[in-house]
Amino acid sequence: MKELIEKYPFLNYYYDNGKLVFEDEKRRIEDNYYTKFEGYGWDKLWKKYLKELFKIYDTLSEAKKKNFKIVFVDASKNYLEVETSNKEIDNILSDRIKKMSLWVCNKCGNLFKNEKGELTIYRSRRTNVAFCKDCALEESLGDIDSEFKVMTTDNIDPWLEELNE
Ligand SMILES: [Zn+2]
Repeated sequence: MKELIEKYPFLNYYYDNGKLVFEDEKRRIEDNYYTKFEGYGWDKLWKKYLKELFKIYDTLSEAKKKNFKIVFVDASKNYLEVETSNKEIDNILSDRIKKMSLWVCNKCGNLFKNEKGELTIYRSRRTNVAFCKDCALEESLGDIDSEFKVMTTDNIDPWLEELNE
């Protein structure tokens, strides 16, 4: 982790003024955007996002690297929202991860496909939280169909296919 935050300093938390939230390196190794993620089932999706972000970051000029920060990560809605200080990167990655997050189980992080091979998500009518079929059955108190809205798509982002691996 030490090498990773040295190579990708934007994994550290920063205040708006650009100062590190944690000055202590030991603390920063334990507590950063890579190690702490509040998105529960979206953890694998978040790691995938970071992996793609690292690839793009590696291609930036030193000046752009220096100023690059993660501005916010919001996992409190029914989709995952990420904003960085670089609009071009956000145009490539943020919308994509947002769309992907709609199809990932909020509990176990897996995808579920129905018998037709379509991505399928069970969204709670009460809380709007999305589950794969197994987790929906577990969460269900009785009739899965009355508790969940079922949504399917055959338009599957190739990055999503990598999450179950
Ligand atoms: Zn699940």
